[in-house]
Amino acid sequence: MRQQGVFEVPTMSPDPRVRVFRRSLQEIDELAGMEVDAYVVLGETYVTILDTLVCPADMAALMLLIEPEIGNRQLLCVNSHADWDHTWGNSYFRGPRRIPILGHEAGLQRVNSPEARQELAEYQARSPLFREVQSVPPTLTFQTRLTIHDGAMTIELLHAPGHCRDHLVAWLPHLSLLLTFDTIEEPLPCIEERADAPLLISTLERLEGLHAHYVLCSHSKTATPVLIQENLAYLREIVQRSRLLLARQRPTEAECEQAAKLIGYPFDKVVAQAREAFPGTFYRLAHEENARALLLWLINQP
Ligand SMILES: [Zn+2]
Repeated sequence: MRQQGVFEVPTMSPDPRVRVFRRSLQEIDELAGMEVDAYVVLGETYVTILDTLVCPADMAALMLLIEPEIGNRQLLCVNSHADWDHTWGNSYFRGPRRIPILGHEAGLQRVNSPEARQELAEYQARSPLFREVQSVPPTLTFQTRLTIHDGAMTIELLHAPGHCRDHLVAWLPHLSLLLTFDTIEEPLPCIEERADAPLLISTLERLEGLHAHYVLCSHSKTATPVLIQENLAYLREIVQRSRLLLARQRPTEAECEQAAKLIGYPFDKVVAQAREAFPGTFYRLAHEENARALLLWLINQP
């Protein structure tokens, strides 16, 4: 049976100083089957929590599990990006539990946006799970790169846009471990903003160039460096098929709504080799949006 709530997944980590925690969302029908991971890195000076799951109670559960390990080390929190499933646990770290929250500059703007407030209100109307959530933005932000220097546990936070504009990854060079969060997913990555479509390709090219031995991502149970290559190949396939189409015809913006069909790359073909079960409706829509985003980007190129 699938585990519920927040639990540790010890088999995921290549090193005992990196702990992997998973939140399985069973409470809400539309999200049933969805899982998201957070990480705790036990360094020499710092204990760094990367992502805060979906509500403050999740963070309370996680803190209970790692409390004995913290000792007198400084707690830090990192938000990989401002999506709700990665940051709504931030509100645990308020008042007397306040700790520094690191994130990308653009994430700060997203958390404080009217759209984010509206999204929170909608989720709160849908489920009591989100009742205690308050939007808590990062308190330390950066643009390109920020390094947490911590002896043999250096964490490099690198801006990695594409899934969304404010996305960052965490590179732990001493362990050759890359925490990619939502830049890669099985069976396919998700471009949230059409304008960011080409950025995901350049980001994955950069991540591939790190030659990480170990790769973890937020939503796909397991991940390996091969998943970076596979996601990249998938995006390039969309680009190539789009170019072939554009050599023959120039579809209107309305026609581009059916981009996956237009370029002859239906969802069933994309996932034919998928290794694991996945939420089909979610990824079918994501594929259609990816195809649309990349085709429109190519059409609008000068
Ligand atoms: Zn996510």
